[in-house]
Amino acid sequence: MPLTELTIDGFKSFAEKTKIKFDSGITGIVGPNGSGKSNITEAIRWVMGESSAKSLRGSNMKDVIFAGSEFRKPATHAEVALVFDNKKHELNFDADQVVVTRRILRSGDNEYLINKHSVRQRDVRALFMDSGISQDSLAIISQGRVDQILNSRPEDRRSLFEEAAGILHFKKQKEEASAQLEQTTENLVRINDLVKELE
Ligand code: ATP
Repeated sequence: MPLTELTIDGFKSFAEKTKIKFDSGITGIVGPNGSGKSNITEAIRWVMGESSAKSLRGSNMKDVIFAGSEFRKPATHAEVALVFDNKKHELNFDADQVVVTRRILRSGDNEYLINKHSVRQRDVRALFMDSGISQDSLAIISQGRVDQILNSRPEDRRSLFEEAAGILHFKKQKEEASAQLEQTTENLVRINDLVKELE
């Protein structure tokens, strides 16, 4: 599902609304040091559900909002939108075009939208899971990530292969089902105790 467009508004160094269109083939982004190249990949990871401010080189998620400069006031909010061509329905969403948007306000309020409908972070993550481009996948390799992967524990490295093989989604579902089963077993034990007390 080709990424066709990226819109960045008020995110990090992107004070003004900026639209980047991706044609088929390879797109290269070049620029001097500190001009915002990494901020573009961070914007993509952010809209896909990144929840660690640290991994976006900040201490608080609100740090992604344009902080202002000598000539510009700080932005009131940051908003990033990704547009995917989904004609082949590779994303598990029933539409030929999928637009995923994330917005954060200075108050810290954070919102995700899929095709303009408000959704939860887990819906956005589920949309990308097993698509090969989720925020944990090797589709986005930021600075220092190669070293991090080479030095990671085998169990952590395994999750990268699981993502690539398309089984991570099922593994997460299994974990959720196991947690529910455990909770239900505990409830059952409690009910049995109560029944015994009443007998
Ligand atoms: P390099 O080639 O050195 O890796 P780069 O082109 O990847 O650089 P980035 O790291 O993407 O550049 O951008 C860094 C710039 O973004 C810095 O000038 C920094 O001040 C600016 N920046 C980061 N966060 C914010 C923010 N919240 N508000 C304004 N500017 C920001």
